[in-house]
Amino acid sequence: MIYKRSSALFSEAQRVIPGGVNSPVRAFNAVGGDPIFVEKAKGAYLYDVDGNTLIDYINSWGPMILGHAHKPVVEAVVEKAKKGTSFGMPTQIETEIAELAISMVPNIDKIRFVNSGTEACMSAVRLARGYTGRDKIIKFAGCYHGHSDSFLIQAGSGAITFGTPNSPGVTKGTAKDTLLATYNDLNNVAKLISENENEIACIIIEPVAGNMGCIPPAKGFLNGLRQLCRENGILLIFDEVMTGFRLAKGGAQELYNIDADIVTFGKVIGGGLPVGAFAAREEIMNHLAPLGPVYQAGTLSGNPLAMAAGLAMLKELNKNQKIFDSLTAKTEYLHNGLGSVLTQNSIDHTINRVGSMISVHFSETPVTNFDTAAIGNNETFKKFFHGMLSEGVYIAPSAFETWFLCEALSYEDLDKTIEACNKVATTLA
Ligand SMILES: *Cc1c(COP(=O)(O)O)cnc(C)c1O
Repeated sequence: MIYKRSSALFSEAQRVIPGGVNSPVRAFNAVGGDPIFVEKAKGAYLYDVDGNTLIDYINSWGPMILGHAHKPVVEAVVEKAKKGTSFGMPTQIETEIAELAISMVPNIDKIRFVNSGTEACMSAVRLARGYTGRDKIIKFAGCYHGHSDSFLIQAGSGAITFGTPNSPGVTKGTAKDTLLATYNDLNNVAKLISENENEIACIIIEPVAGNMGCIPPAKGFLNGLRQLCRENGILLIFDEVMTGFRLAKGGAQELYNIDADIVTFGKVIGGGLPVGAFAAREEIMNHLAPLGPVYQAGTLSGNPLAMAAGLAMLKELNKNQKIFDSLTAKTEYLHNGLGSVLTQNSIDHTINRVGSMISVHFSETPVTNFDTAAIGNNETFKKFFHGMLSEGVYIAPSAFETWFLCEALSYEDLDKTIEACNKVATTLA
């Protein structure tokens, strides 16, 4: 494939945008080469500016669960835009999407909309601190909760990719209030809690980790956290920015039958427009301004175009809940196909999968936390990435990212992907 025009556009972008991109992982720093510039996308396919067609396994990093340019979502946005794009005043559609989201997700009474997953997680932590009157938080190494200061202590994805686990600009004062735990290790969490008695406001976790590849919670881990939180007056925050409206209509809370105290959303809930949200039981949410003292605000929060896209997306998922089973079946098919091809070619690998999230790690060590995710052979991954790309399959340009399947993918697309992997595998050994 030829990427002449992409490379030219990238050179131009680099002159006026740091690194040529508005979010670091879009650059190909982890795999080498220039990023691909997109012209348009439809269903399961990306069409780049050089005229190449790619099967897309990123899907805008999660939002496009039904595929790109899904008709009901696009139409809802177009219709809304004709009536004005922002008012800074309440609109009825905000209540409509709130009611629908609350009906789909277990254990939440009220929800507030923001503009990104970062904002949702940042606000959820402030709410937890305001509610409990405590300062410290626990997060897990390798989990990503957006780029607000409290979380850039040893974050996943971007930060790992660039080998700068602690970003300059985050103060020591902020860092001292974030305690780092090991994913899937309850004893480690219990120890942190006992060392910081009555000081911890919340534990924030990706209930299925998706920013160090896909890592499922070990059996009993989330339940154990739930119990530790309850016993110690700590709020449990499920960061469902990735898993919400993806693993089930009620997200990981529904899939694992565990109630979190605060849940954050992003990605799918915005249907591809900039939306985040956080939600909880009434007693907690009523602490937010203007009802309560915990401040949180946004000029464009609840923006009508964003709400129209999100509402159309949630309606589609709510009326056709078979989508989640269908996606799981497709992902299992892909898992089996890739697994047997890699095994036949004697390539060491581990594949992790939950619902429509999947990741391929080039190591035989089971990947259960950040340290085991980091064992994978990055040189093999680079070859794999570029090999798949030259076969017309676009996976995330970093070994620490999950692939996302969308419902628009056909079994023919999956077969093409497995066949591409078969060709590429012979070059990996
Ligand atoms: C993507 C992501 C975020 C950040 O969301 P943005 O919209 O990129 O700010 C937070 N948490 C998780 C689990 C994510 O996957």
